[in-house]
Amino acid sequence: MFDRNEQNLAAYPADVAADLTAEEKELLARVLASGAPQFSQVHRRADNVPIISFVVQVPLPPTEGAETGEERFGALLGRARLDVNPIMSSVQTGLQQTLGSGEGFLVDEQGRIVVHPRPEYLLTNWTLDPSLPALTEQGAERSFVYYAPDSTRRLLFVRPVEGQAWTAVVELPYSAVLELAAQISTPLLVLLLVVAIVAAGFLVIASRWLARPLVTLEKAAHQITQGKLDAPIRVSGEDEIGRLGQSFEQMRLRLKEQLDNLLLLLRVSQAVAASSLDLQRGTEPILSSALQASKAQSCRLVALSDQGALDHVISVGDVADDSLTPLDRFLAEQAGQLDSPWLVENVARMRGGINPSMLWPNVRSLAAFPVRRQARTLGVLWLAYHGPHSFNPSEINLLSTLAGQAAVVIENARLLLAAEDGRQRLLAILNSTSDAVIVTDPQDRVMFLNPAAETAFGIKSTAASGLKLGHAIQEPTVIQLLTTIQSTEPVQTGEVPLPDGRTLYGSASAIVVNDPQKTEGHVVGRVAVMRDVTHFKELDVMKSQFVATVSHDLRSPLTYMRGYTTMLPMVGSMNEKQLEYIDKISAGIQQMTELIDDLLDLGRIEAGVGLQRQACVLGDVVSEVVEDLRGQAVTRMLELKADIRSRRMVLADPALLKRAITNLLDNAFKYTPSGGAVKVTLEEMADSLILCVKDSGIGIAPADQVRLFERFYRVKRRDTLDIKGSGLGLAIVKSIAEWHGGRVWVDSQLGMGSVFYMAIPVVEAASEPA
Ligand code: ADP
Repeated sequence: MFDRNEQNLAAYPADVAADLTAEEKELLARVLASGAPQFSQVHRRADNVPIISFVVQVPLPPTEGAETGEERFGALLGRARLDVNPIMSSVQTGLQQTLGSGEGFLVDEQGRIVVHPRPEYLLTNWTLDPSLPALTEQGAERSFVYYAPDSTRRLLFVRPVEGQAWTAVVELPYSAVLELAAQISTPLLVLLLVVAIVAAGFLVIASRWLARPLVTLEKAAHQITQGKLDAPIRVSGEDEIGRLGQSFEQMRLRLKEQLDNLLLLLRVSQAVAASSLDLQRGTEPILSSALQASKAQSCRLVALSDQGALDHVISVGDVADDSLTPLDRFLAEQAGQLDSPWLVENVARMRGGINPSMLWPNVRSLAAFPVRRQARTLGVLWLAYHGPHSFNPSEINLLSTLAGQAAVVIENARLLLAAEDGRQRLLAILNSTSDAVIVTDPQDRVMFLNPAAETAFGIKSTAASGLKLGHAIQEPTVIQLLTTIQSTEPVQTGEVPLPDGRTLYGSASAIVVNDPQKTEGHVVGRVAVMRDVTHFKELDVMKSQFVATVSHDLRSPLTYMRGYTTMLPMVGSMNEKQLEYIDKISAGIQQMTELIDDLLDLGRIEAGVGLQRQACVLGDVVSEVVEDLRGQAVTRMLELKADIRSRRMVLADPALLKRAITNLLDNAFKYTPSGGAVKVTLEEMADSLILCVKDSGIGIAPADQVRLFERFYRVKRRDTLDIKGSGLGLAIVKSIAEWHGGRVWVDSQLGMGSVFYMAIPVVEAASEPA
């Protein structure tokens, strides 16, 4: 205790007043001057003990002898030793051993350590390394990790002391923190693990419970994809999954129904395909399937004929009676007008339409399906039910499809009937004709012989059928006729002499079936039709003989007539008119002579009288004729060209050949107007030479071309009227060609000119006669 003059009044312990520190002295002076309480910072006492000193103003009792009423003040100074102060001790203790290790201390505002377990650190400076990064920061509290000089990791916790500018610092080994963390976290982890296991178990059970319907659905979906549609899908509940389950079940039922229908249709089409083309057998599987699919009691098919008349009833079910009933009639008549199936779910409620007397006694509902092929109504397929029946779309579809199948069967049966009918007719015609008919396949095997052919060739159709033509029939001409005809040739003709002396005239052609997909037809065989021409042959011979005789007999009177007409002007004078008449008579006689010569030549060629074959070069013969006729061409103002190079030999009568070539060239000149051109060429083929006489003349119509080579045939047209001729020229050419084993033909177009061809077989030098 000090008075105003800093005089010590009292002290405990007694030495306190004597060793006041400098800070204390300053504090005392400030309190005595101002009266405000003061305290020091931590500083050391003279004996080095750290202390904090407090000084407050206190009133002093009046001193003896002094005047009363006068206030007296002094100051009271107290010291707190930090090393023994119980509060500080508890603070210091509280700061130690935070986690069983580590130490804590306080730092004052000047950065000096003021509380520390180790006295040597007291009042030493402590600063926080500003470069240390804070590990945590919560308000003013911060923690750091750093490496101590002994290279252990340590945790530093720094926190300001409340109400003081001091800082509490706690320093710990980092391992202790980790240990604590481990101590805290281990039970937590265990707990967490237990909770997680329990939760997972719960989740598994819950999800199983929740997923059970989904699993059922998944199984059902799998079964559906496997095509197993028989097991029902049972998923109960009113939630989405329950509804999904119901949808699945409906889908299964629909699929099963569709599948059943498809299988039914498949069975029907297999049965229809396997059955014959017979109406009854073909339609029965269809009707049975319709009955089975519709659960009706009776199913009937009424087929109409081509003319629309009632034809046939096929029935299955309750009333399996195939006789027409009034109801069949009524429905068949309605079928033509029906656009869609006619469905009567309850006949009792039906208005109009069926007359009740037509109905069978226990029929309650009806369905009728028109049976159509394209636009034609072929009949009606109808079903009768004993109870009211409601029709669903898939049932109607199925029954409509079955009606379509029935249409196919009806149509096929009808086509078969028509084809069979046609075949029978054709057979009857072929069997009743007196012409012999032989049909072969593309491999030249006999397919058919009619009775006339059987008689002609002495073989039964049954025996010949399937044999090679050459094995069945001996006549080489028939074999030649039928085996050489090509599909490109329209027809091949030839005479067939029979052993019994008869002669048949045969024409063979290829049987071509036209394929709409291809331009060319498909050859399926060959047919030869042979007519007995024996009688005509005899007549022809008689005619030839008669003509030959008459021609011969006419020749001498004609010679006389020509002689005397030429002599007439010599025996007396004649006027102009008489001379003109004599010219006309001479021309007539000339024409007649030519005709008779032609006829005689023809007869001679046909009889082969006075003809001789010799090997000669055809080219030379042709050139000779061309040169002979060149003058005639000039007179007619025609250009005549020849291209003859072949040196091949033919076995021929050169005079006859000349005659034929002359005839062809004559015709070309006659039927080509002035200014035109005629060209003669000779082409070499493998076994023949072909002479072509081409002109730019008037041409020949196709109808005339067919008959051109007949005797006396002349084309009757206005532009040929003035051209004289016997109509025998080409007949002679034909006879000559045939006598040489060759043939003639023409290629012409009206107004465009013509080409006449004559083919003569060649002989090789070795086969030349000596
Ligand atoms: P014709 O003596 O009448 O000429 P053919 O037998 O030689 O008798 O000929 C028969 C018919 O053929 C002739 O009337 C003629 O109309 C026709 N004809 C023949 N050759 C030709 C040809 N080159 N061009 C046109 N028509 C022809």
